[in-house]
Amino acid sequence: MGAGLGRARRRGAAGRGGAGGRPGQPPDAADLALAGAVLAALRPVADRAMAHFFALMFLRHPELRAVFPAAMDGPREQLLRVLRECVRHGDDPAALRDRLGPLARRCRKYGVLSGHYASAADCLVEALARYGSGWDERAEAAWRRLLAPVARLLVEAAEEDARATPPWWQAEVVAHRQAAEGVAVLTLRPDQPYPFRAGQYAEVETPWWPRVWRPYSFGSAPRADGLLTLHVKAVPAGWVSNALVHRARAGDVLRLGAAEGGMTVDHASGQDLLCLGGGTGIGPIGALVEEVAEHGAAGRRVEVFYGARREAGLYRLAELRELAARHRWLTVRPVLSEQGPAGCPPAGELPEAVARQAPWHGFAAYLSGPAPMVRAGAAVLRRCGLPPGAIRHDLAEQQV
Ligand SMILES: Cc1cc2nc3c(=O)[nH]c(=O)nc-3n(C[C@H](O)[C@H](O)[C@H](O)COP(=O)(O)OP(=O)(O)OC[C@H]3O[C@@H](n4cnc5c(N)ncnc54)[C@H](O)[C@@H]3O)c2cc1C
Repeated sequence: MGAGLGRARRRGAAGRGGAGGRPGQPPDAADLALAGAVLAALRPVADRAMAHFFALMFLRHPELRAVFPAAMDGPREQLLRVLRECVRHGDDPAALRDRLGPLARRCRKYGVLSGHYASAADCLVEALARYGSGWDERAEAAWRRLLAPVARLLVEAAEEDARATPPWWQAEVVAHRQAAEGVAVLTLRPDQPYPFRAGQYAEVETPWWPRVWRPYSFGSAPRADGLLTLHVKAVPAGWVSNALVHRARAGDVLRLGAAEGGMTVDHASGQDLLCLGGGTGIGPIGALVEEVAEHGAAGRRVEVFYGARREAGLYRLAELRELAARHRWLTVRPVLSEQGPAGCPPAGELPEAVARQAPWHGFAAYLSGPAPMVRAGAAVLRRCGLPPGAIRHDLAEQQV
C-alpha cells in the first residue's frame, strides 16, 4: 500500500470513527483525500484500469460500442482527467457542475443516455477495485459517495441540454480554401440555427473518421447568414485535420457538437483586450475582433499579436490590417519566428514580442494557437503582472 493511501485511510478512520461511513451522504474531506490517494497510486496502471472500465461498460451496454471511436486512447485519457477533476472539486457542487456540464453535452453526441451514468459508476468502482492497490471497503465507500453526486449532476446537465439543443448538428461544407501551406479555411452551413459566441469551439466529426471527434475553434463571429468558418492546419499523420484540409470539399457534410468554451468577450466591461494568435489560432482571435467591431468597441483598445513561422503563414494579415485601417481601436502586429526577407517584420517568438511591448496592466488577454505557445504566452503575461483571471485560453477547457 502506498504511503499516501495509508495516510488518507488513517485520516478517514479518524474523521468517521472507523470503516463504512454514511452511504447516501456527499463526500467529505476524508473521502476526497482517500479517493485522491487511490487515483495517485493507480498511476502506473491507470490506462489499463480505464480500459477495463470501458470493457465493462460495453459488455453491459453493447449499443454504446458502436458509437465510440475504434481507437479508445482519447476517451480513456479524458475519463482519467475527469476523475481527477471530480476528486479536486468533489466538495464544491457548483464547481463540479461547471466542469461536468460540457462533458455531459459531449457524451450526448456519443448516444450516452441518462441511465448509463449510474451503470458507469458501478463499472468504475469495479475497475478501481481490480487495479487500485490496497483497495478496501473504505476506499469503495469513499468512491461511491463521490460518484453518486457526479452521476446525478451529469444526468441533470444532459437533460437540461436536451431540452434546448440537439446532440449534434449536420453542417455542409459550402466553401473550402487553401489559405496557406497545409492550412484550409472551411465555410460551413449548419442544418439548423447554431448558437455560439466568438472565441468558442466545437467538436467536429468527418465522414471519413466516424465517431472520431476533434475540437476546432470558430474562425468568424456569428453571421446573419448563419454560416461559420473553421481554420484547420493538417498535422503530420493527424486523422481529422488531414481529412479536413486535404479531403473535404464543397458539398461534404460534417457533424458539429454544441459550442463550448469560455474564451469570450464581456462587452459590458469595456476592458482593453490583448490577443495572441499563433498559426490557425488567429481563427478565434479574428472572430473576437469581428465581434468587437459588430458590438462597437466602446472606448476599448484591442491589440493583436499574430505569429507564424514565415510570412506566407500570416494568411489572415491582410484582412486584419483592413479592419485596423477602418477601426482606430485595433492594432495588429505580425511576428515571425524565422527571419523573413528584408523589410519583413523582425524574427522572434510571439510571447517575447508581447513582453517587449509591456506593460499590459488592466488588459484582458486571449491566447490561441499551439499548446506550447499558449503556455509560454500565459507565463509571460503572468510575469507582466496580469492576474490569472485576466488570461483566457482554450487549453484549460480540455482539462475535463
Ligand atoms: C479547444 C481546442 C481548439 C482547437 N482548435 C483548433 C483549430 O481551430 N484549428 C486547428 O487546426 N486545430 C485546433 N485544435 C487541435 C485539433 O483539435 C486537433 O487536435 C488537431 O487538428 C489534430 O487532430 P488529428 O485528428 O488530425 O490528429 P490526431 O490523429 O489526434 O494525431 C495528432 C498527432 O498525434 C500523433 N498521435 C496520434 N495518436 C497517437 C498515439 N496513439 N501515439 C503516438 N502518437 C499519436 C499523430 O501522429 C499526430 O502527429 C484545437 C484543439 C483544442 C483543444
